[in-house]
Amino acid sequence: MHFHILTVFPEMFPGTLGAGVVGRALENGIWSYDVINIRDFAINDYGSVDDAQFGGGAGMVMRPDVLGDAIDSIKNPGQIIYFSPRGPRLSQKMVREFAKNPDDAVYTLLCGRYEGIDQRVIDAYNIMELSIGDYILSGGEIAAQVFVDSCVRLVDNVVGGGVDATANESFEIGGLEWPLYTRPSVWRGQSVPEVLLSGHHGNIERWRKQQSDAITKQRRPDLIKETKK
Ligand code: SAH
Repeated sequence: MHFHILTVFPEMFPGTLGAGVVGRALENGIWSYDVINIRDFAINDYGSVDDAQFGGGAGMVMRPDVLGDAIDSIKNPGQIIYFSPRGPRLSQKMVREFAKNPDDAVYTLLCGRYEGIDQRVIDAYNIMELSIGDYILSGGEIAAQVFVDSCVRLVDNVVGGGVDATANESFEIGGLEWPLYTRPSVWRGQSVPEVLLSGHHGNIERWRKQQSDAITKQRRPDLIKETKK
């Protein structure tokens, strides 16, 4: 899996992606990235990459000439994604799809800043817009890290515990995860549910399913409707 990252803040990478299981996978060559500094394609010596909006209004827009040159500097861009609140919201189902062919997958991740980017860039390169949730960030860099993290952890051997570990998680199981417990079995007077100490796998599995269903029904009934469709 390779990611080309277009940003005006190259120092933000690898950022969170350099730590934990995803960081280890980076060291092991399971995935790789390069950062293209959009400012290297600025229109002047001041490093300008943005300009005022046609039609008026507050805020600056990233220029198409600058972004076009930055994108064209990439030999094999693969699928180009622009992080934007206007895109479909990233879901685990979509992440599975993006992570499907890790050996061949190449993504170019365009991190917006200011008010966003000129529409003509999106149109000219047939760019996919992707949102990470219904709120506004000050830039696409965090969204890009969310995207890379969620994709890379699905590649074989990145997360310990194998396929089971990534398949037994919220959204993957058609709902939210059951409550988790570890040692000590009694903590500040609170015991771990008896069934988990019973060693009876059938009962444990039933209990977990029951808990998962109840929590999902209470907190995210929309997920139940989704799986029934
Ligand atoms: N004017 C835009 C928001 C710009 S925020 C609007 O109203 O839709 C600046 C940049 O942050 C965007 O270009 C985008 O790359 C990134 N960004 C902000 N919120 C995001 C979100 N929810 N998901 C993905 N990227 C986001």
